[in-house]
Amino acid sequence: MAIATVNPATGETLKTFTPIADTELEAKLTQAEQAYQNYKRIPFSQRAEWMHKVADIVENQSPQFGEMMTTEMGKPLKMAILEAQKCATVCRYYADNAEEFLQDQEIKLEKGQHYVKYQPLGVILGVMPWNFPFWQVFRFAVPALMAGNVCLLKHASNVPQSALAIEEIFLQAGFPVGAFQTLLLEASKIEKLMADPRVKAASLTGSEAAGASLAAAAGKNLKKTLLELGGSDPFIVLESANLDAAVQTAVIGRMLNNGQSCIAAKRFIVQEAIASEFTNRLLDKYRALKIGDPMSPDTDLGPLATPKILEELDRQVQASIQGGAKLLIGGKPLSDRPGNYYPPTILTEIPVGTPADQEEFFGPVALLFTVKDIDEAIAKANDTAFGLGASAWTTNLDEQKRLIEEIESGVVFINSFVQSNPSLPFGGIKRSGYGRELGLPGILEFVNIKTVSIS
Ligand code: NAP
Repeated sequence: MAIATVNPATGETLKTFTPIADTELEAKLTQAEQAYQNYKRIPFSQRAEWMHKVADIVENQSPQFGEMMTTEMGKPLKMAILEAQKCATVCRYYADNAEEFLQDQEIKLEKGQHYVKYQPLGVILGVMPWNFPFWQVFRFAVPALMAGNVCLLKHASNVPQSALAIEEIFLQAGFPVGAFQTLLLEASKIEKLMADPRVKAASLTGSEAAGASLAAAAGKNLKKTLLELGGSDPFIVLESANLDAAVQTAVIGRMLNNGQSCIAAKRFIVQEAIASEFTNRLLDKYRALKIGDPMSPDTDLGPLATPKILEELDRQVQASIQGGAKLLIGGKPLSDRPGNYYPPTILTEIPVGTPADQEEFFGPVALLFTVKDIDEAIAKANDTAFGLGASAWTTNLDEQKRLIEEIESGVVFINSFVQSNPSLPFGGIKRSGYGRELGLPGILEFVNIKTVSIS
């Protein structure tokens, strides 16, 4: 994939970039390693001061960064600005908590002195996706840097300006040269990078294929990885749910980021007694959504990020319809305009084994399933290769307990949609990946947990 900014709303190529040459990559690796030797000794208080400056920059310039994201990947501008502002929250969270999280932990035994010490690992590679061009990078880099590691970023090829802007933010805030570097690089170079002894570990957010490829390269070299991959998250609505709130949230959750979010609600699993009411209300809300220019303040749904995503989504929808699923609204790319526009779409009566039943749909397509009771709802929710997030709606406390206990996922939200928050650990199980970002577990992923025992 060429490294370029192509406006998804128009198809126009705005800027292309030449991938860095092998010699430049070598220089950046050397710089990262050298920077690490000093950076690891810098006290938490100084790292925190720089990180607070990063927060201020990204917050103060959120309108400009928002516009950059929207231009590169098409999310509505208002959402892009909020994304930049959210990055400030993760900076402040780890700036304020990292030292306490990584304090020595004493372990009492009968004799001797024993404790656990947390030390950085070195150069950590982040391979990141385009769908949240700022947030995903900050979520990876902020805890890694606060722990004393240095970071290399290989960002998705369609968001190079965002990738370069983030490097600039860390430098402007005062982080030493080499502490955070962006590599404009093709994905094919990652395998070699994982074999380089200076790279100690990697974090990837993206598709299953990319995750498996990175993990294989890391495994060959016995290096740790953290993988945040896809999901086909259930959104369960049981009979006692507050239907107004559930329907409203179902629309927000599915349309978030033009439907291209790993934790978007994708499979709507609704109890029989309220299924037709839920479906009718969802249809009304889908009809009211405003599709159009993502720069316009009243746009609800912008274009998909690339023509390839549009083609893949349409293939999944058509194959599901051919397999017997019923189309309630949408279902065809919008051909009356340039850009990668796909309308709000709803599929129901989905047969087992069709793409709508089994695959992740990365776009504004809601997949509706009707179930008899909570047993069927839980079985359907778990009938997927993925296990990222789950949203479940019920006011019955016993049902809440069962859903929390029995749903196979890394995250469960009751009576709201799944969203990430700096304080809440985030990550998946099954084919959605492994490891956790955010919260205390997020900063423990890339440290050496060193056991010390003094007799
Ligand atoms: P992608 O194609 O996997 O790309 C993600 C990153 O991986 C990009 O930087 C990409 O570089 C790189 N990459 C691609 N092939 C690779 C390979 N063989 N080895 C190493 N790196 C490789 O994913 P995407 O289409 O951008 O993102 C969509 C997927 O990400 C969805 O499945 C979504 O659910 C998932 N996602 C998960 C989370 C989460 O937190 N769990 C968050 C957001 C997205 P190029 O751009 O140069 O190909």
